[in-house]
Amino acid sequence: QYEHAYFDEQCPRSKAMIDEAKHYIPGGVQHNLAFNHPFPLVMTKAEGAYLYDLDGHRYFDFLQAGGPTVLGSNPPSVREKVIELLKDGGPSTGLFHEYEYKLAKKVCESVPSVEMFRMFNSGSEACMAAIRVARLATGKKNIVKMGGAYHGWSDQLAYGIRLPGTKGLQAHGVPSYLFKHTQEFFPNRLEALENRLKRNRLKGGTAAVFIEPIGPESGTRPLDLHFNKEVENLCHAYGALLVFDEVVTGFRIGMAGAQGYFKVSADLTIFGKVIAGGYPGAGGLGGKKEYMKYLAAGIQTGDKIHKALVGGTMAATALSCAAGYHTLEEIERTDACSNAGRMGDRLTKGLQILIENHHLPFVAFNQGSICHLETVGTMHFFINWKKPWTITSVINETSKRKKEMEYMGAAYMAEGLVTLAGSRLYTSAAYDDAMIDQALEAFDRVFAHVEC
Ligand code: PLP
Repeated sequence: QYEHAYFDEQCPRSKAMIDEAKHYIPGGVQHNLAFNHPFPLVMTKAEGAYLYDLDGHRYFDFLQAGGPTVLGSNPPSVREKVIELLKDGGPSTGLFHEYEYKLAKKVCESVPSVEMFRMFNSGSEACMAAIRVARLATGKKNIVKMGGAYHGWSDQLAYGIRLPGTKGLQAHGVPSYLFKHTQEFFPNRLEALENRLKRNRLKGGTAAVFIEPIGPESGTRPLDLHFNKEVENLCHAYGALLVFDEVVTGFRIGMAGAQGYFKVSADLTIFGKVIAGGYPGAGGLGGKKEYMKYLAAGIQTGDKIHKALVGGTMAATALSCAAGYHTLEEIERTDACSNAGRMGDRLTKGLQILIENHHLPFVAFNQGSICHLETVGTMHFFINWKKPWTITSVINETSKRKKEMEYMGAAYMAEGLVTLAGSRLYTSAAYDDAMIDQALEAFDRVFAHVEC
């Protein structure tokens, strides 16, 4: 029932637009996450917990724009402030705006390890800035990250990352010499990290250890409870900066991010997504003063330190900072992280019951409002460490399940569910119990037809 003909009939306007767009946009869409089988659907509105498409269908939105909208999409409380700014001041001045100060102060007050903050255009840019700062501050060369972790698409950090469906294990278009000083270690393997740090002592040292604090790929492969604390200890022992990439977890796990939950004090913290509340220009770097001083803009009297070259014409606009500031205020006022987290718990429990009822080889788990529906077997590799997980084994498993995954991608859409690539589901504070239960009924209908 979820075949091509179904979509041709139900979504003719989307199909026509995508066919046209293919002439002007490579692949027909602008965003990696916009792909769907058999063709991408065109969305016209995102509001609260729902998405609406060009052919008039409504969807439960578990993509939530890829993560920024903890309050739900386009919340009126933030929108009104943004409209006020646009009417009275405009989106950008090119100089300094009060909202830059307000947002920075709010971030510093919320995350204990962050004493200073600078806004960028994206999480990727903030990661690039973090590398520069770490190298300047430590005088060391190497950057160590966890296998499979995503820290944006810059040359240095694309190590080990590839687009699904492309051949080979490495990012394409990046010469391997650019990875000379980027290294990986297996998630949850502290001894591997320590060995790496030891070996690096003779090879330029380690400037920073980058961590996705709930595990690689936004927690798809979760970490042992004490892992982050142990990494913090190792970083101190070897004089490397601990960089927490909280692009996904910042202001979603809680106002103090994942580091608040794990009681870890990062040296540098990368923000993205929620930092601009679903508006453009979502990236930021925060940290201790002794490191953030390398990002001081302009030339200051008595300035003797070498500073990091960073930039961005449209970074830290009044628009992104106002949207971010009012989003953080509203999240705090309404305790939105906890509310979204409760919805995540309800969704995950419900999914696990459905999985068992339908005898499917899947696993559902969550870290608050970040939910995972593991369907391709990676969990198996990662739970059972005696059969270690490798990138190749996951890719093989994924391609074995390609048909099922295509089926499920189409089935979700047909049943009014939008997820992130079928395997990640963000909840927001715009959901309530009844909506989650209704969404679970739709998952039930999808699962009823899965053959594994
Ligand atoms: N770091 C993590 C953990 C992410 O999940 C992402 C994006 O999803 C990034 C960095 C890159 O952020 P951006 O897409 O804003 O460049």
